[in-house]
Amino acid sequence: MCATCGCGESDVRVEGRTEPRHAHPHAHPSTDGPATIDIETALLAKNDHLAAHNRAWLAERGILALNLMSSPGSGKTSLLCRTITELAPVRPVAVIEGDQETHIDAEKIRATGAPAVQINTGAGCHLDADMLARGLVELAPATGSLVFIENVGNLVCPALFDLGEAARVVVVSVTEGEDKPLKYPQMFAAADLVVINKIDLLPYVDVDLQRLVAHCRQVRPAVSVLPLSVSTGEGMAAWRDWLEESPSPADSPAAKS
Ligand code: MG
Repeated sequence: MCATCGCGESDVRVEGRTEPRHAHPHAHPSTDGPATIDIETALLAKNDHLAAHNRAWLAERGILALNLMSSPGSGKTSLLCRTITELAPVRPVAVIEGDQETHIDAEKIRATGAPAVQINTGAGCHLDADMLARGLVELAPATGSLVFIENVGNLVCPALFDLGEAARVVVVSVTEGEDKPLKYPQMFAAADLVVINKIDLLPYVDVDLQRLVAHCRQVRPAVSVLPLSVSTGEGMAAWRDWLEESPSPADSPAAKS
């Protein structure tokens, strides 16, 4: 069980294999207040240690890793499929997919021609640094490549776990309403970029785009915000520009220290 949120993750599988997890960073929750705080601090400290290893591993290989987080259904996988298709001629891309169950998203990614590894977290609601380390070994991304990590759809727990990524991208769709940055501030406060997806649906939903942007900046004033539509392609050029200008693997240790 996860001492942070109470979710279970005793059945984590990488690429469909079922393995017992040894020395994972989660501990059983305690009903004792101070002890619970100690366990939570310890598990996050252990995760941060493993994340530092991942960050060094990625930097040694010149690999840029980006952690995509959102609620379920915001369009992360669709964004990745379109991005891979548009970037494929110029840059090698690989993907680690995090979901509780199924290989559906990894299969969608592989259909674009990019390599993908699926991590199924079972009852777990987020990826952690240990899972990413195992996924990277399985994926074996090319030197100098771009690795997208699609986290488990959840606006709460993924924000707590550093994976060793160079930057965090939070995706929110206009169909989710204007209030998500205010309701889930930890997620948006951790974002290097907020992608607002499905702007082609703005005429059909009661959402003011400028108010949604303002809510993002209320939580993190300096955050970059990119409205786009994966369906129509509007805004995709700005997203590709951001990827070109996003933190380099060599910059990432300093950025997270
Ligand atoms: Mg997905």
